[in-house]
Amino acid sequence: MVTALIPKRCGSCGTPLSKEEINWCGLCEFSWVRHSGHAHCRFGERLDWRLQWSWLRLATPLERQLVHALKYDGDASLGHALGARMAREFTMGQAPQDFKSWSIVPVPLHRRRLRQRGYNQSMQLARGWSAVTGMQITPLLMRKNAGQSFTRFNRSQRIALHSVQFDWPEIPSTMPEHIPGCIIIDDVITTGSTLESMHHSLRRRWHGPLAFITLADATS
Ligand SMILES: [Zn+2]
Repeated sequence: MVTALIPKRCGSCGTPLSKEEINWCGLCEFSWVRHSGHAHCRFGERLDWRLQWSWLRLATPLERQLVHALKYDGDASLGHALGARMAREFTMGQAPQDFKSWSIVPVPLHRRRLRQRGYNQSMQLARGWSAVTGMQITPLLMRKNAGQSFTRFNRSQRIALHSVQFDWPEIPSTMPEHIPGCIIIDDVITTGSTLESMHHSLRRRWHGPLAFITLADATS
């Protein structure tokens, strides 16, 4: 019996995709609002980032739906494809040889969230990024808290609880001294607290250059 396949839908606008389109439609890819990287100086002088780069701005519902699909639609291939796509635009605009031997460090997901979701979207972005750039993926930290339902807390308690904490695993993955630098990769930068926390945790054991890239920036 032949069953009609339900066409996959664009992760950004939801229209059914053609055979040539895999995760999103060509019109969306054209319309996504790119972030202008130079305006990006979120942390001022506080943190020593060698590079801060975000690919998209969360400017229209198209980008917001894309991020939602990346996290919640259960399709791990979307993250991989987006990581590859952003890496291609990154390597057009930067001097990729400067970073080629660096490691890419995905923001870890708490194991409970990983079980629920089935994949870590930052790891999927890292895989796609690595496939294009040849950069090695080096997962370094673990997440101490999973995030929780905050409805029973007041506002200031929620803010305190929201700060994400990372730690080195008890048996640390070796931090190869020969790595010239680490680029943390995450889906969205909002308050910046996740990246700041990653930065602090990495600095406890490693003092080489650090950078971050994100799929999208939610603030501009
Ligand atoms: Zn679309």
